[in-house]
Amino acid sequence: MMIQDNINPAVLATSLLAWYDRMGRDLPWRVKGEPHPKPYYVWLSEVMLQQTTVATVGSYFTAFIQKWPTIQDFAAASLDEILHAWQGLGYYARARNMHKCARLIVSEHKGEFPATAALLARLPGIGPYTAAAIASIAFEEKITPVDGNVMRVLSRLYALQDPVPASMKRVSSLAQKLTPDQRTGDFAQALMDLGATLCTPRAPKCLLCPWQTSCQGFKQGMAEELPRKSLKTIKPDRYAIAFVISRGDGSVLLARREEKGLLGGMIEAPTTPWREKPWRLDEALAFCPLECEWKENTREVRHVFTHFNFKVIVCYGSVFEPVSLRLPRSFWVKPEDFSKMALPTVMKKILSTLTV
Ligand code: SF4
Repeated sequence: MMIQDNINPAVLATSLLAWYDRMGRDLPWRVKGEPHPKPYYVWLSEVMLQQTTVATVGSYFTAFIQKWPTIQDFAAASLDEILHAWQGLGYYARARNMHKCARLIVSEHKGEFPATAALLARLPGIGPYTAAAIASIAFEEKITPVDGNVMRVLSRLYALQDPVPASMKRVSSLAQKLTPDQRTGDFAQALMDLGATLCTPRAPKCLLCPWQTSCQGFKQGMAEELPRKSLKTIKPDRYAIAFVISRGDGSVLLARREEKGLLGGMIEAPTTPWREKPWRLDEALAFCPLECEWKENTREVRHVFTHFNFKVIVCYGSVFEPVSLRLPRSFWVKPEDFSKMALPTVMKKILSTLTV
């Protein structure tokens, strides 16, 4: 597809920034114009936003900066404290990486974030998008981060017909051509806002858009069809059996997961390994950490992860005598203390079946 000549980067930047000054969202971590927001705030908000909506992130961001006002405070917190405060945001690897990243910035960068995307991308948990966002918003580097929103806006602006993700490279290069010399951070945030509020996946509000007169997707009447998508891959299912075991005083057996891997370091009810075919109860019992009496009823819990659908059968067991635990890093917790544990959402769902 030919790129249209009447797309003038300077004109587009001016109209988008004027729109942003009037209509850009006021967000707790955002500063429009000068001074630039603290890199710590940009980092915190951008990592939180990676897989979570703006509406959810708002209150978490405010709670985090109240509790840990600086990167030094954040680095000094224990991983457990961070994971506990992170509960509800999901994808806990982000929190673990942030903790590592904060400690590295304090120990090796004198508590200062590096000021370029290239250096930021070397830190734990900071990928190319987040690095570009911090560099542009906090340090005015001339770089525009490209996420799904920006992909959509630019695919429509240029009426790109290549499907995503194959068109990613081209969109990145177009984004850099559009980036103005001044107010690069505001330009990046304006583009994010345009994608989030007007150039939405369905029913884009083109009549309100500052780019309407240049937008090829709008002119060709195909805005809503863009960006084109490759054939979707179907998410696989994974299965496990969870053992929710209580003892006489009502406490429930929980354990800390291995530090590495999905939900690493979080607290869980013991389960079988997670695999691609369903478990039979008799084969699953080999993975149960205790001999116990089983109730007849079971429950099914479902949870959607990014790369798979998780289906768990929950079994309920009881022990009455003191027992030795075969499971490393396991312990007994009273249900009223569950809220103090770093439990991922899937485990909260599993444990909530106890009271239903
Ligand atoms: Fe998106 Fe419509 Fe604006 Fe084009 S005119 S950028 S399709 S909102």
